[in-house]
Amino acid sequence: MMTARIPFATGLCILIAGAIVCATPVLAQPPGPNEMPSVIQVPPEAQPSAHFDPMAATNAYLAQIPAEKTARSDAYFEGGYWLILWDFLYGALVALILLNLRWSAAMRNLSERVTRFKPVHTFVYWLQYLIVITILGFPLTVYEDYFREHKYGLATQTFGPWMGDQLKALAVNLVLGGILAVLLFGIVRRLPRTWPVWGAVVTILFFMLTVLIAPVYIVPIFNKVTRLNDPKIVDPILSMARANGIPAKDVYQIDASRQTTRMSANVSGFGHTMRITLNDNLLRRGSPEEIQAVMGHEMGHYVLHHIYVGIMFLAIIYSLAFAYLYWGLNWALQRWGEKWQIRGVGDTAILPLVVLLVSIFGFVTTPVMNTFTRTQEHEADMFGLNASRQPDGFAQAAIHLGEYRKMSPGRVEEWIFFDHPSGRNRIYDAMRWKAENLKLFTSQ
Ligand SMILES: [Zn+2]
Repeated sequence: MMTARIPFATGLCILIAGAIVCATPVLAQPPGPNEMPSVIQVPPEAQPSAHFDPMAATNAYLAQIPAEKTARSDAYFEGGYWLILWDFLYGALVALILLNLRWSAAMRNLSERVTRFKPVHTFVYWLQYLIVITILGFPLTVYEDYFREHKYGLATQTFGPWMGDQLKALAVNLVLGGILAVLLFGIVRRLPRTWPVWGAVVTILFFMLTVLIAPVYIVPIFNKVTRLNDPKIVDPILSMARANGIPAKDVYQIDASRQTTRMSANVSGFGHTMRITLNDNLLRRGSPEEIQAVMGHEMGHYVLHHIYVGIMFLAIIYSLAFAYLYWGLNWALQRWGEKWQIRGVGDTAILPLVVLLVSIFGFVTTPVMNTFTRTQEHEADMFGLNASRQPDGFAQAAIHLGEYRKMSPGRVEEWIFFDHPSGRNRIYDAMRWKAENLKLFTSQ
């Protein structure tokens, strides 16, 4: 259910590099109810002086956020903790229904009636499975992705276009998930002893291929991506790129405001499709200083090879996951295989069990995955501060991102749930950098 509920492209972005920082406000109109303030004036404590104190400067920035906005964004983000649990439990329930009521076995039987060709069995089973879990998961999907997002002022779509995006995501899942299912079941059937190794290899190669094609073939299904032309924005970015040895000729923008009010940017792609993209919310509300700080961060992902490091990390995680699947599937089949009418590991009817075991694995490893990503994000923050030299733009970006992230979590809370450093820590990093580079700001 998790695979179907989260649009494929979104899931990818999280996996790719989570390059997400954001921007400032120069608009005349007052901020919306969920919008964080745009701090055009640097607070006095954050201005260069002989007794500049990074902690006092951080607190001064945070003090500019009205209490009710903090409460709202905390409620949104903390609700997300519970959704991790509910998604997991709901998905487990759906899997157990499919197995125990033998719906999965019935779908397998139907797929065998259609054809005798095994790869087509797998694909026909996948088609039925995806449609069933999408329907069963729909109540939770519509609450999480539509009503809840609107309640917190983060969504911009009416129901029709939102539903259209859901159907597109379903189609993408149908094709990509179907190809992967056919490949993996083929491997399991042909290599009954060594499939965990080859399964991990093929999954990681498939993931790399998806990352490679995503910017060109998947993202445009949902949004319009164009080259950014405004020299006021592009020139400083390309100058920063040249200064850091990045061979970029173009910067891209995406019309994310079609779906969301969130400000963000990211690095996506692989090899020659790798690119930096700003979303239009960032362009509209971000000050030049803020956009430069965000772009410095994104270039950090690029220069520090985060996509490649991330793929290597996933290769380790996938290997562990396949070893655990090899053990877990056999263990469960010995106990309940007959009851569920599953003939063996190569039988497509086993898929709900695979999804159940993988979701347990994902649930347990959430803090590990978050900590890996958060560590990369922190590295990109440090690179971005050095490259852009915009600590105050960076602090403003952290405040804007606070529209959908809790600013000041506890230490353990941040370790478990945060895939980026918290806003408070990001502002502190920026102010500490500023404290050590005060001469850049006092000589003017
Ligand atoms: Zn990032």
